[in-house]
Amino acid sequence: MKGLMPLCWAAVGALAVAASAVALGFVLNPSGRHTPQHQQQHKDNDREGPSARPQCPYDPTKRKGYLSWDDYFMAIAFLSSERSKDPNRQVGACLVSPKGVILGIGYNGFPRGCSDDKLPWAKKSRNGDPLETKYPYVCHAEVNAILNTNHASAAGQRLYVTMFPCNECAKVIIQAGVSEVIYFVEKKISASDSTYVASHKLLSMAGVMVRKHRPQKNQIVIDFRE
Ligand SMILES: [Zn+2]
Repeated sequence: MKGLMPLCWAAVGALAVAASAVALGFVLNPSGRHTPQHQQQHKDNDREGPSARPQCPYDPTKRKGYLSWDDYFMAIAFLSSERSKDPNRQVGACLVSPKGVILGIGYNGFPRGCSDDKLPWAKKSRNGDPLETKYPYVCHAEVNAILNTNHASAAGQRLYVTMFPCNECAKVIIQAGVSEVIYFVEKKISASDSTYVASHKLLSMAGVMVRKHRPQKNQIVIDFRE
């Protein structure tokens, strides 16, 4: 599990590799301590996945435990974040039309054609040179998701993002016509953190709805074993 998440119950897309199995999770209780009753209920729902007992062939009811739209799109944002080579922060984003069609996905990385091995991934420079850090070079997940769109832009897009967007992404989000941002975690902000204060201010002024993702499931497991 990757650290750096400011909220105690949240963790960015946990990737557990055991043999060839991959588990992608919304980890609500990463400490592994006491599991409250409502979370136990989530656990029970999680059992209704593809590996659950087969349904009686005469039972006409639909499958239980299927993914909610919000969990589905947020999980895709998390999966995209796993492509990031940033050793400190992996962010994913998924842009969705009002009818629930995925328009674009993205993660944080250097621009196309700019080598992951030649540009620095460091957060700080020992010489105080900003060009020795990742910041002047990296494209954020939100911008990549918007630029990667495979569909004519439509008003009312929703953007699912694993971290609350910075002010630079907020500008692009607004100009692209995104109407709602659903984020998983927000960096703890102080009044002096102009990046996120400005982001909140811009999104609010532009009337972009903002909400925190509330997972229906504790985790989503993708098992590559046959
Ligand atoms: Zn950003």
